[in-house]
Amino acid sequence: MKSNWNNSEAKKLKGDLLELRVYTSNLLGNDEDLVMHGGGNTSVKIKETNIFGEEEEILYVKGSGWSLDTIKAEGFAPVKMSALKKLVALPELSDIDMVKYQRMAMINPNAPNPSVETILHGLIPYTFVDHTHADAVVVITNSPNGKKRIQEIYGKNMLIIPYVMPGFILAKTIYDMTREVDWDSLDGMILMSHGVFTFDHDAKKAYEKMIDIVDTAEKYLKKQGAKEVKGVKKGQVDALQLATIRQQVSNLWGSPVLSKLDNSPPAIGFSNLKDVKKITSRGPLTPDHIIRTKRIPIVFSKNSQKDLDKYVKDYKAYFKQYNQGEKLLDQAPRWAILPNSGTLSFGPSPKHCAIIEDITRHTKKAIHQAEHLGGWNALPKSDLFEVEYWSLEQAKLSRAGKPKAMAGKIAIVTGAASGIGKASVESLVAQGAVVAALDINKNVISCFPQKEVLGIICDVTNTKQLEKAIEQTIVQFGGVDMLISNAGIFPKSAKIAEMDAKNWQRSLDINVTSHQRLLQLCVPYLELGFEPAVVFIVSKNVPAPGPGAAAYSVAKAGLNQLGRIAAMELGGKGIRVNMMHPNAVYDTAIWTDEVLTARAKHYGLTVEEYKTNNILKTEVTSHDVADLAVAMLGKTFGKITGAQVPIDGGNERVI
Ligand code: ZN
Repeated sequence: MKSNWNNSEAKKLKGDLLELRVYTSNLLGNDEDLVMHGGGNTSVKIKETNIFGEEEEILYVKGSGWSLDTIKAEGFAPVKMSALKKLVALPELSDIDMVKYQRMAMINPNAPNPSVETILHGLIPYTFVDHTHADAVVVITNSPNGKKRIQEIYGKNMLIIPYVMPGFILAKTIYDMTREVDWDSLDGMILMSHGVFTFDHDAKKAYEKMIDIVDTAEKYLKKQGAKEVKGVKKGQVDALQLATIRQQVSNLWGSPVLSKLDNSPPAIGFSNLKDVKKITSRGPLTPDHIIRTKRIPIVFSKNSQKDLDKYVKDYKAYFKQYNQGEKLLDQAPRWAILPNSGTLSFGPSPKHCAIIEDITRHTKKAIHQAEHLGGWNALPKSDLFEVEYWSLEQAKLSRAGKPKAMAGKIAIVTGAASGIGKASVESLVAQGAVVAALDINKNVISCFPQKEVLGIICDVTNTKQLEKAIEQTIVQFGGVDMLISNAGIFPKSAKIAEMDAKNWQRSLDINVTSHQRLLQLCVPYLELGFEPAVVFIVSKNVPAPGPGAAAYSVAKAGLNQLGRIAAMELGGKGIRVNMMHPNAVYDTAIWTDEVLTARAKHYGLTVEEYKTNNILKTEVTSHDVADLAVAMLGKTFGKITGAQVPIDGGNERVI
């Protein structure tokens, strides 16, 4: 591990203590081997004059809800040192009182709540205090003879703190342990099964002491031959097994969740370890991870339902053994080992899954390294239970707010790079769903920056490409609940007598056959989906055809009929299929200003009159169509199947 301190960057901060605190906090936060997703905390002590002209010492400490990689000055909570010094001297302090008195001691009521380690930061007599959960150090503390190893590596100037619960108890333990200690003689503090503290009056020195300690641990591991997992190359993906697991885990969760497969070579290598069940059954990397990952993952065999039943039974037994009046949390696993395939992360959004994947990637590496030192020793279950059910940890999760209507649900949209398809993707994401966006246009990859969208280049007339796209969707999200089958073309107008055979066939291929193929391929996954539903984007041309459009209208009529039959065939399995007939949607790529002006002129209308040439005299936009399509996939239309809904501002030929 190397220092990323940059003199010219630091110089720009002109010695401003809080800005320097932000700078080195970001340096720490940007290294995943030090902290991840809200882990760790930092502080700086600054003397300030208040409005009464009195000088006060203020501790600026990381506010909860902020992560070190992105924290800014306003992410630090300013707390009066005078209050912290009194708090730490109390014989005991409940969590509720700790939160209350820390908040009362703040000089800015709008700042975030101070970190749970605030009192500890306050008692360390240095300007800058840095705290991380460095992987390499925790690997050593969590292996046999961990304490002895740490003593050997760092010598007597490293203060070693036995594991105690974070918060007031930890601060109090260190307060009692350091009453006689000469702080100036210390290089830092290592907390068993937890992490590292460094401190100095200089921002750079405090930061670089951290880097040195972790670098020493990394070198020690290397010398001990603690290697990383050997990677195994990707093989076949069993998409149906993945979708089944996602359904079973969602059932346990009580609402649909995503299931993301990590089938990178190290993940497959780890899943293939002979003793994977044994080594993952001991506990997490650091106790604060437990609220994200639960204590242990599930290891799947061929019978995933049986494995889940056992996981729940074991979880309830663990709860029964340690609870002292707490309320039982849900029993669904947060991550899983799928031997020969990799590891899975479960959560209601891609963000949740990404956090779990990041944490467990480090956990897997750490467990494997500790095995080389003689075996991974996580904390006892009783300590882990205390952190899992600690109200101050659970509070971190409850900030998320009410989930959106389609949270955890997965959709496929075709023709997604423009027009109605693109609008549909956006509308689904706005409702909380994730979407596989398919299009033959390669822009589909770049036009959706959202994490909720997986852009896939796909020719819908190519069955192999469709199969591959569905597989990618299942690997990324876990299943398919909804389908907006939208891809289509409008072939050149031609009378039947002058029809070009190729144009005719191409219209049938894209406008009807591709939809049948896609639906056929999706059915096994829709059967495993939640409130599964399909919408076919058809056309006003079905109820009201026009001359010269045989290739288009015939194919669209076929698509409409396909939807009607699908509604009958799939209804018994709970899958709804509805059709929409949009007309005159002009905000799409094919309707350039030039084309619009020409068409309007042809009918002797202005462009505005042409666009609103319907009973309601209103313009129908692609977002109007998309919002209706998404509504038809949702609860409002939950008891409707086989319906055909026109969306055209009212058309006498259709009515
Ligand atoms: Zn910590």
